Amino acid sequence: MSHWWHRRSVKVRLMFWYATITVVVVAAFAFVVFEVVEHRLASEIDRQLRIDFDVVEAQLDMDDAGKLRWLVRGAHGDEGFARLSAWFEVWSEEKLLLLRHWPVRDTDIKNAPPPPSEPSLRFATIELEPGLHVRIMERPARVRGQGVVVRVFRDESDLRRTLREIVEVFLLAAPVAAALAALGGYWVAHRSLRPIGAMAARATSITSESLGQRLPVANAHDELGQLATVFNATLQRLESSFAELRRFTADASHELRTPLTALRAVGEDALREQDNPAISSMLEEAQRLEELIESLLALARMESGKVSVLPQRIALEEVLRDVAESVRLLAVEKQQTLEVQNPAALSATADRLLLRQALLNIVHNAVRYAPTQSRITLGTRRQGEETVIDICDEGPGIAPEHHTKIFDRFYRIDKARSRAEGGHGLGLAIAQWAIERQGGRIELESSIGNGSVFRVVLPA
Ligand code: ADP
Repeated sequence: MSHWWHRRSVKVRLMFWYATITVVVVAAFAFVVFEVVEHRLASEIDRQLRIDFDVVEAQLDMDDAGKLRWLVRGAHGDEGFARLSAWFEVWSEEKLLLLRHWPVRDTDIKNAPPPPSEPSLRFATIELEPGLHVRIMERPARVRGQGVVVRVFRDESDLRRTLREIVEVFLLAAPVAAALAALGGYWVAHRSLRPIGAMAARATSITSESLGQRLPVANAHDELGQLATVFNATLQRLESSFAELRRFTADASHELRTPLTALRAVGEDALREQDNPAISSMLEEAQRLEELIESLLALARMESGKVSVLPQRIALEEVLRDVAESVRLLAVEKQQTLEVQNPAALSATADRLLLRQALLNIVHNAVRYAPTQSRITLGTRRQGEETVIDICDEGPGIAPEHHTKIFDRFYRIDKARSRAEGGHGLGLAIAQWAIERQGGRIELESSIGNGSVFRVVLPA
């Protein structure tokens, strides 16, 4: 139950609360009304019973033989009970019925009440027959010195009908009130929570590249407005930190470039004068450092939002051949076959520089990590509206747990191997950024021992 409850939306929960509270309030109100009405009507009946008792007592008389007589004579000389609406019985102290006046015949009443248990004042409600409840009052009286017990009756049907009507009204009103409250609750919750939906939608769309965006603040004074304001302040700080980090990377890379260039110039001069393996290896390291700095600068530029995307129609053949040529030397060195397959002579809409950079990084990896004498193919195909470029190699393959991580910065599966091959762990991060920036994506299909297929998917 609690599991179910916690999975409901705030709107639904508020709706339930409104409905429950309304039913409780209506029930409490009905209960109070019921009690008050019952008390009022019941005491009214008891008051009537006392009057009935006085009337009956005043009319009783006893003849010399000890027989009970009724004082008032009717128009026809009968006992004149008809003038009295009250029902009554007179019992002797020995529990013998002396007189009974009921507006119904005795035989109609199946459960005639038992004699009074003791001569004292007593009120009670009894059920004469199913559905016929009467209120009785018993009280001792004296007729010419003789002790009797007089019992007067009053029908309770009206009282009971009124109470039943109160219950019926409640049973009818409670579901209606609950439904109205639920609807009202849902509507109120829907209205007041609507800004949250808008905020959530905006917050989801904010990425590290769009930190300049802010949440909408409908009303800065209410709770939701305060929440949005706080969130916006956090975004502001985040944006500043990101900008600072980028600036630092860009500045540091920039500052490193100048001494490095000088270092290389000195090294190259020295190497020209004499062939020294130590200087060669130093120059190689300087070259790698330069590549790393270029990659870092590229990433910093990309993230600063300063890289503009210029989509244009590109014949893929041209780009693929260009990329293949750029790594041809390395591939030849490893006796690898590098093939471009573009049977349908496809073209796509993309930014030429970004696409070239991404493909180059992926193909470069293929050449790096695939063994000598293996085959690397660059193929194109259409997939629905999209254009796909497959880069397949016969390398060691990549275990599934690394598939997403290798696109992270500086993530290398085998650090030593990557370093030995001249990698820094930034190539795929740059490639992914370059392709996603144009609305595309890079997919990877690879497992250990089966080579890898990197798919660059470009949108229509
Ligand atoms: P690096 O500069 O180290 O190549 P990348 O970001 O280009 O950095 O790649 C990240 C890691 O992914 C590499 O270190 C390597 O372990 C793995 N990787 C990338 N491409 C391939 C491939 N074609 N075959 C096997 N492993 C690869």
